[in-house]
Amino acid sequence: RANSQKFEFQAEVSRLMDIIINSLYSNKDIFLRELISNASDALDKIRFLSLTDKTVLGEGEDTQLEIRIKLDKEHRILSIRDRGIGMTKEDLIKNLGTIAKSGTSSFVEQVQKGGDLNLIGQFGVGFYSVYLVADYVEVISKHNDDKQYIWESKADGAFAVSEDTENEPLGRGTEIRLHLKEEAGEYLEEAKLKELVKKYSEFINFPIYLWASKEVEKEVPAEESETEDVDEEKPSEESEEETEEVEEDGEKKPKTKTITETIQEWEILNDVKAIWLRDPKDVTTEEYAKFYQSLAKDFSNEKPISYTHFNAEGDVEFKAVLFVPPKAPYDLFESYYSNKATLKLFVRRVFISDEFDELLPKYLNFIKGLVDSDTLPLNVSREMLQQHSSLKTIKKKLVRKALDMIRRICDEDPDELLEEDKAVEEEEEEEANNEKKGRYAKFWKEFGKAIKLGIIEDATNRVRLAKLLRVESSKSGDKLTSLEKYLSRMKEGQKYIYYITGQSKEQLEKSPFLEKLLKKGYEVIYFTDPIDEYLMQNLTEFEDKKFQNASKDDLKIGGKEEKAKLKEIKEEFKDLTKWWKNLLGADNIEAVKVSNRLADTPGVVVTSKYGWSANMERIMQAQTL
Ligand code: ADP
Ligand code: MG
Repeated sequence: RANSQKFEFQAEVSRLMDIIINSLYSNKDIFLRELISNASDALDKIRFLSLTDKTVLGEGEDTQLEIRIKLDKEHRILSIRDRGIGMTKEDLIKNLGTIAKSGTSSFVEQVQKGGDLNLIGQFGVGFYSVYLVADYVEVISKHNDDKQYIWESKADGAFAVSEDTENEPLGRGTEIRLHLKEEAGEYLEEAKLKELVKKYSEFINFPIYLWASKEVEKEVPAEESETEDVDEEKPSEESEEETEEVEEDGEKKPKTKTITETIQEWEILNDVKAIWLRDPKDVTTEEYAKFYQSLAKDFSNEKPISYTHFNAEGDVEFKAVLFVPPKAPYDLFESYYSNKATLKLFVRRVFISDEFDELLPKYLNFIKGLVDSDTLPLNVSREMLQQHSSLKTIKKKLVRKALDMIRRICDEDPDELLEEDKAVEEEEEEEANNEKKGRYAKFWKEFGKAIKLGIIEDATNRVRLAKLLRVESSKSGDKLTSLEKYLSRMKEGQKYIYYITGQSKEQLEKSPFLEKLLKKGYEVIYFTDPIDEYLMQNLTEFEDKKFQNASKDDLKIGGKEEKAKLKEIKEEFKDLTKWWKNLLGADNIEAVKVSNRLADTPGVVVTSKYGWSANMERIMQAQTL
C-alpha cells in the first residue's frame, strides 16, 4: 500500500514466525481458537470500560458485543471480526510486532526443537499462529481513540501499517483477514469451521456467528418461473420438483414447483452459557475438563487433576470454579514472587480482570479458575474494586475451598490410605476408581512445593496444609508418607516426630545422627529440599507432637533410667570434655558433650538448638555464591 509505514518484527517474533510459517506441525486448527480468544479478550475490555462509560460502545450495531466469521472462497480469505476494543496505530505496532510476555524465548526454543505449538496461547504469542494457515494476513482495526488502520505482513520479517482508506469503516473493533495458503483450503469449508468452534471455543462468552449457507425450500408458481430465464440469473443452485395439486372438486390448479434455494445468513455457533451459573449436578466431568482447557488455554489434552464448583452464600455471594491443572507451568516457582494471579474475576457475569492478586495467596497461584461475584459493585474502577472489603471474605472462602479440593484428591486416592484403612479398602478394591489411583502422588510431584510454601507463609491454614505434606522417611520405602501415617506408626513412649535435613535420602540414611533412633525403631523423616529448612522453621508441631531435628544438640532419647545413667557418665568425663573444648577453642565451638544419641559412631558434630543446621549452612553458602 502506498501510504504504508514499514516496520521490522522484534527478532524473537521474527524467529517464531519463521518457524510457524514453515511448520509441518499437523494441528493447524489452533489458529482459530487463538483468534477467537483474542476477539473475546477485546470484547471483555470494551465491556469493562462501558461499565463506567456507556458511550464507549457507540450506537447501533457497534453496541453488539459479538464475533463474526466470514468466508470468501473465491479469494481464499477467511475473516474474523469482533466489535471489541480495537487497536490504535500504536497498539498495532506494539501488540503485533513485539512480545510482551517473558518466557516466550524458551517457548520459541522448544518449538524450534519440534515441541508442541499447542501451548502457544499460554505464552502470549497466540496471534502468530495465523501463519500456520495463511501466508498473508491483514489486520484492520478501529479503536475509539484513533482512525482505522491496516496492519499487514507476509511473515517475511517485516510488517506495514497504513491508514485504511479502502475498506468499509468498522465502527469499532478488529477484522483479521487470513489469505489462506494453498494447502489450507479446508478452512474455507463451513463444516470445518463449525467443528472447530464447537471443539475449541464452546465456552467463549460472546456469540460467535458464521456467515453460513442454508438451504431453504420455496414454492413458486410454475408459470412464473417458466417465463424467467433461470439459467442465467440463478443466484444459487436450485433444484426443481414439479407438483400438481388436484383440488377436491377435481378441477386442475395451476402448477406450482418447489425450489431449493441456497441463501447466506448469520448462523450462531455457540450457545453463550456460563458453565459456572449452572447447577454443578448438571455439569459433566467432560464439560469441566473442556472448560478448563479454554479457561487455562491448556490444550495439552491432559485433564485437570481436580476441580471444585461451588456457590458461596451469605454476606458475600459468589460462584466459583477452581481447577488443579495437570501440570505446573514451567516457571511456577522460578518467578514465585512476581507470579501473576491465575483466577479470573467476574462481577455479575462481566469479566473484570485476571490480574487480581487479592483473590488467592501466592502459594495457591497454581490454581486456575474463576470467581463471579454478585456482591461486588460493577461500576467502579479496578483500583476501587481491589480495595473492596468483600474481597477478603472471598479470598478466605476460596482458600478454604481450594484446600478442601486438594484434600479430596488424597482422600479419594486409594494409594493414600492409612495402613489401618488398607483392610477396609481391599474389600472395596473392585469399586475403587482407578482414575483416582496415584493422583495425589501426581499432584505432589507438580505442586508439592506450593504446599510447603503455604506452610511457611499461611499460619492460619498451617495445620490443614501440614496434612497435605508428603515426605520421605526411614519407613516410607520408595514412596512418600504423610504426617498422619507417621503418627500412626509411632512407637510406645516416642515423644517426638524426628527428622533430619540434608542433600539426599541416601546420604541421610547413613548419618550417624540416626543410629540410636533407628535402632529404637523410631521413624525419621528425611528432608532433602532446600526449602525444607524454612519449612521446619515454621512447622514446629503436628497434632500435639513436636518435631525434633536429629542433628541438633537438644535431641533427647530414652526414659528416666537412661537419663540418670547419662548424668553419671557426664560427670565421669567432665575433665575430658573440658579439656576438649579448650583444645578446639571457644570461638569455634559452643560445647563438647557426652551424649547417648550414638550407637556405633564415636563422635559427631551437632548444631545447637537455635543455630542453623549444617544443611542450612550449606544452603546459605550456595545462595551467597
Ligand atoms: P495474548 O492474547 O496472549 O496477549 P496474542 O499474540 O494472541 O497474545 O495477541 C497479542 C496482542 O494483540 C493482544 O494482547 C492484544 O493486545 C492484541 N490483539 C490481538 N487480537 C486482537 C483483537 N482482535 N482486538 C484487539 N486487540 C487484539
Ligand atoms: Mg491471544
